[in-house]
Amino acid sequence: MIKQTKKNLIYYQFQCFPRNVIDHGLFTRLGGVSPSPYGSLNVGGTTGDTKENIVENRRRMFAVFERKVDTIYDSWQVHGNRVVYVTAPRPLNGKHEPADIIITDSPRITLFMRFADCVPILLFDEKKKIIALVHSGWQGTVSRAVQAGLKFMIYELGSKPENIFAGIGPSIGPDHYEVGDNVCEEVEKSLNEFKSKILFFHQKKYFLDLWLANKLLIEQAGITKIEMANLCTICNLDEWFSYRAEGKKSGRFGVLMGLR
Ligand SMILES: [Zn+2]
Repeated sequence: MIKQTKKNLIYYQFQCFPRNVIDHGLFTRLGGVSPSPYGSLNVGGTTGDTKENIVENRRRMFAVFERKVDTIYDSWQVHGNRVVYVTAPRPLNGKHEPADIIITDSPRITLFMRFADCVPILLFDEKKKIIALVHSGWQGTVSRAVQAGLKFMIYELGSKPENIFAGIGPSIGPDHYEVGDNVCEEVEKSLNEFKSKILFFHQKKYFLDLWLANKLLIEQAGITKIEMANLCTICNLDEWFSYRAEGKKSGRFGVLMGLR
C-alpha cells in the first residue's frame, strides 16, 4: 500500500487499484475532530462519540476525493455473509441494511464501511467496472464473506476471476490475534482445508491469521491479483483503531471506495 496525505488526512491506497478509475482510501485515525478515546478521525457511531463529530469526520474523508456525502452507501455491519448489490445511495436519514458485502457498478455511489480489527477487503473488476467492499472479522472469515462477494460478482454480474483485483487491508494481525476454543472450533468446521496454515499454537495459546485466511479464500475463488497491507492495527495504534487493544470505547476507521 501507499501512504497518502491530503487535506490534513492520512490514508492508504492499494497500488493495484488504478486511481484514475476508482477513488479509494483506508483512512488512518489522524486528522479528525473527535476527542480521546476516539482520537481523532472516528466514524463509529455506536461507542459514545457524538454524531456531530462523526458527521464532520466523514465529511472530511469524502472531501479528500471530492465526493458528495449524499452518494454514500454504508451498511449495518453484522459479521455475516449477506451481499447487497447497491443501485442507489442510502438516504442520509434512511435505515442501514444489514450486510457485510456491498457491491456496485454505479459511479453515483460511494461505498463506505467502518473497522477496528476486522479485515477490510476491497474488490475491483477492471473490465466490468464493478467494486465491492467486504467486512471480514473471524465470523465473516469462517462464513466465507469474501467468497460470497466474489461469487455474486462472478455468477450474478458476469465478472471473470482473471479481471478481479483484491486488496486486503489493515486489521488485527496474526501476532496479536489470540483466539479461544469457540473460534478454533468454527475454523475447524468451516475452513478445515486451511486450518493448518491459518491457526497456530504459540506459548500455549491459539492465534488466527485472518490475512492469510482471506487470501486463501480469495485464491480459492480463482483470483490471483491480491495485494496485502500486512499492517496490524494493534502494532500500529498511532494510525489505526483496535477494538481488541482499546476496548468497547474504541473508535472506528473509515474505508471508502467509489467509481469515478
Ligand atoms: Zn500486531
